[in-house]
Amino acid sequence: MTKRVLLAKPRGYCAGVDRAVVTVEKALETYGAPVYVRKEIVHNKHVVETLTERGAIFVDEADEVPEGALVVFSAHGVSPAVHEEAASRQLRTIDATCPLVTKVHQEAKRFARDDYDILLIGHEGHEEVEGTAGEAPEHVQLVDTAEDAAKVTVRDPSKVVWLSQTTLSVDETMVRVNQLKGRFPELQDPPSDDICYATQNRQVAVKAMAPECDLVIVVGSQNSSNSKRLVEVALQAGANASYLVDYAREVDEAWLDGVETVGVTSGASVPDILVMDVLSWLADRGYGEVQEVTTANEKVAFALPRELRKALKDNDLQDSVR
Ligand code: SF4
Repeated sequence: MTKRVLLAKPRGYCAGVDRAVVTVEKALETYGAPVYVRKEIVHNKHVVETLTERGAIFVDEADEVPEGALVVFSAHGVSPAVHEEAASRQLRTIDATCPLVTKVHQEAKRFARDDYDILLIGHEGHEEVEGTAGEAPEHVQLVDTAEDAAKVTVRDPSKVVWLSQTTLSVDETMVRVNQLKGRFPELQDPPSDDICYATQNRQVAVKAMAPECDLVIVVGSQNSSNSKRLVEVALQAGANASYLVDYAREVDEAWLDGVETVGVTSGASVPDILVMDVLSWLADRGYGEVQEVTTANEKVAFALPRELRKALKDNDLQDSVR
């Protein structure tokens, strides 16, 4: 039996996650601890634990932040109501919402202004969906399940558009859209893809390697939407089994019974060190041969939030005067 590992590329950190994590790091350096963060900055246990050790305090809502303190909004975005709450408590804010989530917010606002019914495909209760829907609560209806798509009603079937969460399965979203188009033939598509480049690229890479894999290990947290989708995509694309783990220590030896080829990938919020830990765990069990399966080379990068860039620039100026 030839044991080997196929390693998906792209995997792990996307530009939006990188920016959000660096934002909290730089905020800690610039302003000192504590820096409050509303919700998990990105959905990854390791990242949240590491930033907590450095002085970040994660809270669920802005009303848990002491008046006047500094709070960072997470990559998943917030609704206008959260901005208002923060302003009413005189909080200093840094918004680390991913620009690709902001893009969907802008679309929601624009279609609401034009009085469209907006069908937002996404997972009920996910922070991103709450933020996007909060931009236009009177116009947005969430479509999560097939039942939702069968039941949803609109005021004018000629004035309806679908938008989506950024981290969905591309294939399943199209199933939902086609179901909706069956009911509303004039349903408009979003002006550009809402499912982001990073989500799409990680799914394409998993699809390319999964048919050759007996097992696909996805490194990522249970509350990470895009990571969970990678498990589903791996199974749909032909992997015999697929599991989501936060850490190498969670991989079960029994999963390797009779397994020749193990696929490894990670969600968009996962630092690569966690993937390297899984690779060395596998190497210790005879899976030392690693082949990378590359389906795209990503070069996307986002500038830090404006509030932070300004503070960093002011700091530089002060340093140069001293
Ligand atoms: S997964 Fe996509 S939308 Fe989410 S933070 Fe990354 S790039 Fe932005």
